[in-house]
Amino acid sequence: MIIELNKRQQHILEIVKDKGPITGEQIAEKLSLTRATLRPDLAILTMAGFLDARPRVGYFYTGKTGAQLLTEKIGKLTVKEYQSIPVVVNESASVYDAICTMFLEDVGTLFVVNRHSHLVGILSRKDLLRASMGKQELETMPVNIIMTRMPNITTCKPTDLLLDVAQMLINKQIDGLPVVHFKEGDNEVQMEVVGRVTKTSITKAFVDIATNKLV
Ligand code: ADP
Repeated sequence: MIIELNKRQQHILEIVKDKGPITGEQIAEKLSLTRATLRPDLAILTMAGFLDARPRVGYFYTGKTGAQLLTEKIGKLTVKEYQSIPVVVNESASVYDAICTMFLEDVGTLFVVNRHSHLVGILSRKDLLRASMGKQELETMPVNIIMTRMPNITTCKPTDLLLDVAQMLINKQIDGLPVVHFKEGDNEVQMEVVGRVTKTSITKAFVDIATNKLV
């Protein structure tokens, strides 16, 4: 949670910085307020990471600035909190079908799967645009001849950090990653597509951070 502290919370922080460890009772006394009145403020300051509370010792200042706490929170965001529903096409689908799916589902990246629903490729807007520039028949051309294929696909897991994904999108200059579960196959590891994480997911996280929606 990123918090704008009110006057009283800032005052409490100053007191604890100066006198900590200090009990809630003592802070209340200094502010001429009751312990009950202070309880919500102390809870917020503790939850946000500015203060730490030790039983029978009291509150003390963690020494972390708002910026440090914000960095910690961002560094903990995971893919599963921001992933969206994946849109897939079968590897035998035509380029024409893929273009229709992209418009109908309103996504910029399609994941290509085989008949076992395992990830075999990926199609971006420009992959489809490039295929459309040739003179070939789009209705008969299967997507698997134009897609980016395994093992060249960058994937991520639901438990991965959103920050690492953002870094990969920048490094590889791509718009999104399939979120996958790994399944042990006969000879090789298979990937089942369970989600999609894109620049839009990262943008959502950015807005959540700026509007205090992170808990
Ligand atoms: P566009 O090509 O529409 O600008 P991208 O930047 O996402 O969209 O894709 C660039 C190229 O990288 C495309 O050829 C696409 O197939 C490929 N690509 C997209 N996402 C991935 C990924 N997660 N792993 C590997 N290649 C990808």
